Amino acid sequence: MSKVWILVADDMSAASVAGIAEKSGCSVDALVFGDASRAEAVAGLGVGSVSLYETEETLAESMASAIAQRAVKELPAAVVLSDNATARAIAGAVAVELNAAVATNVTSVKVEAGKTVVEQLAAEGEAVRVLEVTGSVVCVIADGGEEAEQSAPVAVETVSAEQAHDMKVVATNVDAGGSNGLATAEKVVGVGLGIGEKENLSLVDDLADALGAEVACTLPLCDNYHWFEHNRVVGTSTQKISPRLYMCFGSSGAPQHMTGVRSSKVIVAVNNDPEAPVFRECAYGIVGDAKKILPVLTEAVRKA
Ligand SMILES: Cc1cc2nc3c(=O)[nH]c(=O)nc-3n(C[C@H](O)[C@H](O)[C@H](O)COP(=O)(O)OP(=O)(O)OC[C@H]3O[C@@H](n4cnc5c(N)ncnc54)[C@H](O)[C@@H]3O)c2cc1C
Repeated sequence: MSKVWILVADDMSAASVAGIAEKSGCSVDALVFGDASRAEAVAGLGVGSVSLYETEETLAESMASAIAQRAVKELPAAVVLSDNATARAIAGAVAVELNAAVATNVTSVKVEAGKTVVEQLAAEGEAVRVLEVTGSVVCVIADGGEEAEQSAPVAVETVSAEQAHDMKVVATNVDAGGSNGLATAEKVVGVGLGIGEKENLSLVDDLADALGAEVACTLPLCDNYHWFEHNRVVGTSTQKISPRLYMCFGSSGAPQHMTGVRSSKVIVAVNNDPEAPVFRECAYGIVGDAKKILPVLTEAVRKA
């Protein structure tokens, strides 16, 4: 039986990567880069085996050649990963060694006799393209896919990989402004042009304070109005976030913005245009004036 590999180098996307792989029709081998807690979490996601490559002192990227050599021996039909920088580096080496095709924005992988059928999002997420691949394929998944169910955990095998390069971290220089906490925030309040005036941002701050949330914004509020630092923008040009709750006010839901927030567990949108695209991507939508709804929500959260 063919096998599918998943490459996991972060905690946020593991369940989505496993969710796509488990529907491939193949047994799934997980290659995890990080520590034992990450590997143990992956072990309970319906996979057949877990190999842990510990990366506390060793950079995962320096193991890429060794992983590629393993791929040559095991010939996975597909290698599934999220759009994570470390996983991409390893997948790149694997793709070269296997002479594999590479597909991005992938929502489904099915391994059939002699070929693999891959579905990927196209046309800004408005269409699904179906690809047929002969030979191995490296699949970078789209955000927001169905997550694997929890299952009885398999054993984790810690594996050592020969480092092809003497590459190690010698310093980590944190941005002088410091981390703004967005990357790891559990709750984020996002704001777009619909907020109107700069003065209205205090309404956003009030809700964020009440919720214990971080504040994010759409690109124009930074680039055109300079109301926010660049590190508060989420989307294609900047960063992706995966909070449990993302509430956005006065944002149209442009694909370049939604790419950055689609991995949120729950999205709540407030917009005065019932046709705004953001309503197609949220779990809860409120049609109305953000300036009126913000204080009402803040009050309700404070009372809760
Ligand atoms: C190459 C490229 C990269 C980009 N990268 C990013 C990126 O990383 N992140 C990003 O955010 N954008 C990015 N953009 C810009 C993106 O395409 C959109 O232009 C931007 O996200 C729109 O911001 P917005 O939703 O705040 O504004 P708009 O699209 O103008 O939407 C404002 C919304 O507010 C609503 N509204 C108006 N008044 C009210 C009110 N009183 N109450 C409630 N709602 C109201 C309107 O109905 C409208 O839907 C990029 C664009 C390009 C071309």
